[in-house]
Amino acid sequence: MNARFGPAGNPDSFYREGHKSSLDMPRWLRERGLNAYEYQCVRGVNIGRETARRLGELAAEYGIYLSIHAPYYVNLAASEEEGREKTKKHLLDSMLAASWMGAGVVVFHPGSARGDRAAAMERAINMLGEVLRQAGEDGLDGILLAPETMGKRSLLGSLDEVLELCGLDERIIPAVDFGHLHAAGGGLLNSTGDFAQVLDRVVAALGRERSRRLHIHFSPVEYTAAGERRHRTTRDSGFGPDFACLAPLLADPSLEFTLICESDGLQAEDALFYKSIYEQAVASGREDRG
Ligand SMILES: [Zn+2]
Repeated sequence: MNARFGPAGNPDSFYREGHKSSLDMPRWLRERGLNAYEYQCVRGVNIGRETARRLGELAAEYGIYLSIHAPYYVNLAASEEEGREKTKKHLLDSMLAASWMGAGVVVFHPGSARGDRAAAMERAINMLGEVLRQAGEDGLDGILLAPETMGKRSLLGSLDEVLELCGLDERIIPAVDFGHLHAAGGGLLNSTGDFAQVLDRVVAALGRERSRRLHIHFSPVEYTAAGERRHRTTRDSGFGPDFACLAPLLADPSLEFTLICESDGLQAEDALFYKSIYEQAVASGREDRG
């Protein structure tokens, strides 16, 4: 399977139907035709070993690819000892939970760009090196870390910064959040060519082989001059970026990708909507090739 679609966390409709436990999600997703799930540890890694194991078993049973979103409190650029230790713990705890549930990727927000941006990046690279060293000692080498492109310029996580972090080690891959890139750039992504430029920069930085497997976040985003304001849904009109511009590029059969949708409350519905657009792009690509 080279195309995976799914939600970040549990959508409103899941709860409205009376479900309470994330353990119900793998089957729920399968029944709707989705095959990826980003488990949210954004307020802390609170999942126990047994629950994580069970979630992993159910995900395997229903063919759902798992990833984890690490706590929002991660700040690779933290300059004080306390913040550095917390960041390390949040990332390592997320990687441990990922190993329990068989998730391949831990997505995280790189951190604050306050003060001297170059100095913040230098601290971030050192910190990430420390986390990877410890992960190796803890037997967590198999889990990939994915710094996410961010929607505000006050945060580390421009595409260039994320790619620079990826240059540190093969165990780091970019989480390309197109909604965030669009917002941070003041409405940057408006055509297939605009999206192609982003993918080309990933290939230029990481090489074709490492760029074949993409971890993508996609949802409409409302933004101001300062960048991202909030995530919207495809049912709110007037908010980009438009997935129809990206779909023809993803229809490249040599690409393998996981697209996680973060639309506000409708993340599963919008993931399905994006999947249908992607399938149309694949079908018309086949016609073009005859
Ligand atoms: Zn995120």
